[in-house]
Amino acid sequence: MEELSVIQLQLRKCTRCQLSGYPVQGPPIFSGAPGARVMIVGQAPGRVEVGETFRPFSGSAGARLFRWLQTAGWSETQVRAQFYITSVTKCFPGPNKSGRGDRAPSRAEQQLCASWLEAEVTLVDPVVLIPVGTLAAVRFFGPDRKLVDLVGQRFQIEGRIVVPLPHPSGASAWTQAPANQALVRQALAHLLAVKQELDL
Ligand code: SF4
Repeated sequence: MEELSVIQLQLRKCTRCQLSGYPVQGPPIFSGAPGARVMIVGQAPGRVEVGETFRPFSGSAGARLFRWLQTAGWSETQVRAQFYITSVTKCFPGPNKSGRGDRAPSRAEQQLCASWLEAEVTLVDPVVLIPVGTLAAVRFFGPDRKLVDLVGQRFQIEGRIVVPLPHPSGASAWTQAPANQALVRQALAHLLAVKQELDL
């Protein structure tokens, strides 16, 4: 089996979406090393990540995600140093039609990027997976499960603990709903418990 570093080298040069005519902007964004015990899988990077910082979750959505994870006991510094952070598609999809947020990657783009994510999960082999947002949840639970049925729960899938979170974007109506914020608090309580159980 190929090493993670080899896959990462290939991934950094990936232009599958551009070659298929999709208006994505690289470079592909991800971070982390072999041996990470926790993996975060987001939706896709944004303009800040591909244009300025070149690291995942560096914009306002990332700031909210790190505030959440702080309540589960992890500082941003710890998360960036110890976790593997990636996404369903790894290039910036561009703005959405309203211009108030980012375009969600199409199914075709998700499919083009799927083998990269599969390789990352296989080679990193984390004990804890945190899918962030609907598209990431679909990768692990299939298209029929709704976020409301997943966030706030802890699952065991193929030997891994999986604790889904919603998309942390301020534009996410789901995340802003008070009832759903209670689910987010439950999810973070699960993560705190997992951190303590596994000494993460
Ligand atoms: S989104 Fe994924 S498949 Fe598409 S060009 Fe970027 S790395 Fe390649």
